[in-house]
Amino acid sequence: MNFEEIIREVYLKNQPVEEKGQLPAYIPELRYVDPAKFGVCVSTLQKETYGIGDYQERFSIQSIAKVLSLSLAYSMLGGNIWNRVGVEPSGTSFNSLIQLELEHGIPRNPFINAGALVICDILLTHLTHPKEEFLDYVRSLSNNPDLTYSDRIAASEKQAGYRNVALCNLIKSFDNIMNDPVDVLDFYFNLCSLEMSCEELSRTFLYLANDGYTLHDDKQILTKSQTKRTNALMQTCGFYDESGEFAFKVGLPGKSGVGGGIVAIHPLQYSIAVWSPCLNEKGNSYKGMLFLEEFTTRSELSIF
Ligand code: GLN
Repeated sequence: MNFEEIIREVYLKNQPVEEKGQLPAYIPELRYVDPAKFGVCVSTLQKETYGIGDYQERFSIQSIAKVLSLSLAYSMLGGNIWNRVGVEPSGTSFNSLIQLELEHGIPRNPFINAGALVICDILLTHLTHPKEEFLDYVRSLSNNPDLTYSDRIAASEKQAGYRNVALCNLIKSFDNIMNDPVDVLDFYFNLCSLEMSCEELSRTFLYLANDGYTLHDDKQILTKSQTKRTNALMQTCGFYDESGEFAFKVGLPGKSGVGGGIVAIHPLQYSIAVWSPCLNEKGNSYKGMLFLEEFTTRSELSIF
């Protein structure tokens, strides 16, 4: 498979496409990102990496980090986490409050904000120094000791994160948050502020293509079953109320973030990351979706 050629062709074709997305308005600092940025990187299990465009520039990974926090909680507590968060697609936007009230504070899945807040609460309970230990975990997955949170982005989101404050307090009122909501939110905003490039993201997520083992040092991050289930959740819930559309058009497990990043996994083959900051109305990267649709079509490498 000549990934390099397909990536270059699909990239060059989509670069001039008229941008129909918009920068997210609700996190002030994300408004200052150059909307023309566009990068792609694929990393394969054969230890090959191909990148193009702005693939080495770091950006705010936002909700993509929710896969990593889920992995850490899942590896520590196993299936017990599913008593506090579900495994069904929500069919609602990532920050919706409606379902949570009707379903008594049990979020539908770990990738909507409500579910990610519960996972953060679980980690706060089980880690002694949550922010440091989570960062160490991400650094070891990525084999990159320089990765770090952005204080600027975390502070910006904290200052304007009214819906997340409401979500966390609503869950707390149903006794599904054990720690102080202020601490849960602080941890949540920090993990969303993690910055990575497409190259770093595609390498970091290789464990999900490799049956739960890191490629660089063969360390087990998740069991085979946990890996399969995490990929299944990415497939069914990774794009909120656009998860069906992503499965339909791209056909890979994936996860998006409002920083404009998308990471997608082809089990036993590769991990790919795309970054284009303008979002469609569902909060997913407009050009990122276009790129991946055409990439899996041309390579004929979707899981379906
Ligand atoms: N930090 C963002 C929020 O909580 C993450 C949302 C996202 O990337 N979809 O709203």
